[in-house]
Amino acid sequence: MPPILLDFRSDTVTRPTAAMRAAMTEAVVGDDVWGEDPTAIRLQQRVAELLGKEAALFVPSGTMSNLIGVRLHCRAGDAMICESQCHIHYYEQGGTAQINGVATWPLAGINGILHVDQLESVPRDDDSHFPRVRLLCLENTHNRGGGRIQPYENMVRLCAWARDRQLRTHLDGARLWNAAVATGRTMAEWARHFDTVSVCFSKGLGAPVGSALAGPADLIREAVRHRKVLGGGMRQVGIVAAAALYALEHHVDRLADDHANARRLADGLHSIPGIHIDPTEIDTNLVYFQLDAECSTADELAERLGRRGVLMASSGRQTIRAVTHLDIAAVDVDRAIETVHEELRGRAVGDPGPLLHG
Ligand SMILES: *Cc1c(COP(=O)(O)O)cnc(C)c1O
Repeated sequence: MPPILLDFRSDTVTRPTAAMRAAMTEAVVGDDVWGEDPTAIRLQQRVAELLGKEAALFVPSGTMSNLIGVRLHCRAGDAMICESQCHIHYYEQGGTAQINGVATWPLAGINGILHVDQLESVPRDDDSHFPRVRLLCLENTHNRGGGRIQPYENMVRLCAWARDRQLRTHLDGARLWNAAVATGRTMAEWARHFDTVSVCFSKGLGAPVGSALAGPADLIREAVRHRKVLGGGMRQVGIVAAAALYALEHHVDRLADDHANARRLADGLHSIPGIHIDPTEIDTNLVYFQLDAECSTADELAERLGRRGVLMASSGRQTIRAVTHLDIAAVDVDRAIETVHEELRGRAVGDPGPLLHG
């Protein structure tokens, strides 16, 4: 294996910059389980302010943030409505069932987007055949939906439906920063339709660790208890909270570069025979593309690219995911496109293959 040159597998692979590490070194810290870490407190206030909520809580991961979010709204035997490919249902080990005793009630969306008419199929009466549906969870941007931004008015309708039915609402906003930067709508505008919102610092923002859960002060007080029993109470956590604070200052606006690079990657891939992708569907920094079966499987192409130092993630038999982030520049995108092109050359039906140089 050559050294890894370009890692497109996820936006979680970024490493803290020298300036971020310096901010971590200088962090003023205390015991956060005793509520005495000034840097964690400052981060939580900043996140609450950005999201327009009364309070926020720093937690080790997005998975824990979602787990606590659901726990705040539901008891064992309840259920939450969600889109069937969402992270909570698909990628969190069924944790909300395992730990919270809360079932998911998944509905299949289009690219991760639900329509309000679909919600009418959810059980409404106190019929003992069904779990009690208490919560609607949405994800923005939607990871398996291809980094899709929830269309705003549609999202407002979904949340209004939930409120009319006295359901609570939780937003998995791991990449809500990307939606805010891409649309120009503030984080608070996106967040105001939800009771609780989870955001991640460890994705596109480039911090090494951490997520936050924001919501009403009484719920966040309760969330402190849940975090503790899950093992998420941390001591001098200001060391990592400082990285998140640094990221909020310096790494939010630059997400626009990731989006431009993702579009550049999609445009380049689109021109390669055997690859299917619609560049106009790339809303943010996640790029999913399909391979013709006679060209290559996703595993095979990912393996061949990996040998050349370009890492992408196989995500289904014919699907590859490539993600742009802090450590990927436009020239890296061009190099990745060229490498993919070389690896597939001559394989697609109708592709003339390598040019003969005289
Ligand atoms: C990454 C991610 C999470 C979970 O975050 P971890 O920190 O990896 O636990 C939750 N939701 C979405 C949409 C994510 O992309």
